[in-house]
Amino acid sequence: MIELLSPALKARAQAVKTKWDGFVPKIDARVQEVLAEADAGLDELIALHGNDPGPMGAAFSALQVRFRGLGQKLDEAWEKIDGELDQVRDDADSARDHEALGHLWAELRASYAQAKERIDLAYEGIYTRKNAAWGRALWSQAQRDSQQPVACVKCGAAIQQTVFHQSSNLTCAHCGAVNQLHPGMAAGLLFQGQGLHALAHEQAWNEWLAMHRAEQAYNGHRVPITRDRDALLAAARAYWTRYYVAFQQMHPGFAEAFGSVQQAVDARLAQHSAWDAPVEVQRRAQYQAVVDAAATGDRGAIQRAVAGADLDDAVRCVFEHGDARGTMILLELQHRAEQEDEPLVRWSGEQIARMSRDLRARA
Ligand SMILES: [Zn+2]
Repeated sequence: MIELLSPALKARAQAVKTKWDGFVPKIDARVQEVLAEADAGLDELIALHGNDPGPMGAAFSALQVRFRGLGQKLDEAWEKIDGELDQVRDDADSARDHEALGHLWAELRASYAQAKERIDLAYEGIYTRKNAAWGRALWSQAQRDSQQPVACVKCGAAIQQTVFHQSSNLTCAHCGAVNQLHPGMAAGLLFQGQGLHALAHEQAWNEWLAMHRAEQAYNGHRVPITRDRDALLAAARAYWTRYYVAFQQMHPGFAEAFGSVQQAVDARLAQHSAWDAPVEVQRRAQYQAVVDAAATGDRGAIQRAVAGADLDDAVRCVFEHGDARGTMILLELQHRAEQEDEPLVRWSGEQIARMSRDLRARA
């Protein structure tokens, strides 16, 4: 795109791009360094202080702070680049220059978003792996603890614990005294703390990633439709199902605490719906109808579907859902409705260029 710029702007735009392209690998390298350091540090900590939530919690907080710092560095660098591109744009005086600069901006903006995503996923990844490693250490410790017989409070006879995930009452076979037994530190952290969550989350990592991408895809739509939301909920359901299936296998008290896997998953999904306003539900259904009508190519059906919808949003919605033919039909309708002076073909071309730039910038 830079080749299309007038000579006076080309060198300046190229300098901004070169600067950005040089910065991104540096931040990626920093991410790898932090990962390597944290990897070794956390393994050591798990081995030494695995039974103590204090140091482990502090270490995970510190890790988060480091990754946030890297994200901030990236944000700041992007703000500078964005500002510098603005300055180049101030001196552009042809439509062609503006278009080329628009594409360059979208390209760099997408590169920024991808770099940000790599930082976020690097953190999520190591947080998940190390938390699960900690969970496994707690699991082994809890098992070792559970094999230690407990002495009866009254007669001192050995009592074999049978319930490990919560407190229980056990009658001594020798003297009949009721002993109240509590889970050890490791079992407590495993069942009531982070442990099982971390292990279940790790098992559902691929589903979590898919859910994360579905969320991004959903947020990437300027005008989402019912199907987009359904895809998001399906991804969330897949994650929580995998999560609770794993959780159930590890937790002897699962039924008592959560009921069935299905019930636990439904409770999670209900939280998604709780935040969904009816007006949004209706809006998505309306634009779903526009997208479906556009897909038929039937002008009459399209006209009926857009009645009551915002034409600009309708075009954008059909465009961002990948229907090129439907987009052209809608642009033609909009061109006529808004009595644009510019010839249809040129005007449509401009609209598409603008929308595709926006789309890439949101990627
Ligand atoms: Zn006893």
